[in-house]
Amino acid sequence: MTLTVGPLSAEPGRKTRGTVPVDLGPTTVDIPLILVNGSRPGPRVVLTGGVHGGEFIGTDAAARLAGLLEPGEVSGQVVICPVANPPAVYDGRLGKSPLDGVNINRVFPGDKDGGPTERLAAWLFENVISGADAYADLHSGGIDETLLDFVGYRLTSDEELDAKTRGMAKSVGYERVLFGRNAEGGNSHAAAARHSIPAILIETGQLGERDAAATRTLLDGLYRLLHHLGVIDAPQHVAPLTAQPRDWVWTGAVESPAAGLWYPDATTGDEVTEGQTIGRVVDPADGSEHKVTATATGQILYGMNGLTVAPGAELAAIAVPHD
Ligand SMILES: [Zn+2]
Repeated sequence: MTLTVGPLSAEPGRKTRGTVPVDLGPTTVDIPLILVNGSRPGPRVVLTGGVHGGEFIGTDAAARLAGLLEPGEVSGQVVICPVANPPAVYDGRLGKSPLDGVNINRVFPGDKDGGPTERLAAWLFENVISGADAYADLHSGGIDETLLDFVGYRLTSDEELDAKTRGMAKSVGYERVLFGRNAEGGNSHAAAARHSIPAILIETGQLGERDAAATRTLLDGLYRLLHHLGVIDAPQHVAPLTAQPRDWVWTGAVESPAAGLWYPDATTGDEVTEGQTIGRVVDPADGSEHKVTATATGQILYGMNGLTVAPGAELAAIAVPHD
């Protein structure tokens, strides 16, 4: 079956690389897409990187995989979008788009009559994500963010869907597999789950690093995922597991109470107890301090490394193993 995304298409047994112009209103962006149409039937897997800027490992791994995957070794179809949000990725390298200050991963499935970022989300959702039998969105700790690698997914009211998604999440082979108790919100994987698409988030690397070992870790995870889904059967590509995947659940998030300078006492990887002081936000004008306390007990899985924070900035996300 011909694989078609927008004006691009790939016949069975072919790989097509190109860009698709998407009209966002005030500007048009070029979305890079690689379509790998396998020579045998199978599921359609969609991978997106670069939903946020400054998260280089996902984009690097997606671009490398796009070069490595050959249609002759693929059963099914793989659609790879290494830079899903070009304004945020290329201009400023931030989570928010410089076009309108919107974090695209809060507005999926988007709105084709909305602002530029909502329009981009709508285009991606309708043209790239919606056709997926399985979807993985590749993120990293950003330039100001420390992070322990994890895979995330959301529970829905559909047990069969949740079982498929959980299987995908564990197949990646990361130790921490985080489930969210519902599929609310504008994250691309949450919106996909609401549309009955098994969807996971893979977070790899931190601090906006470009690191060959981190990219290799993610590539190994993606090959395990593709093998799990039956898309590739070449076992020589699939690295053995280095960690035993374990269920974790989010217990709390800590936001900055004010604009100011963030001085953490506890950081990513630390175990904290609810109510414990984990740092302070200092007003640079008068030196006054807002004490910041943990909203939950558990391990900090990602945290703010930046000194300067705005009110509501995520300072820490806390989770615990769930057995
Ligand atoms: Zn991200």
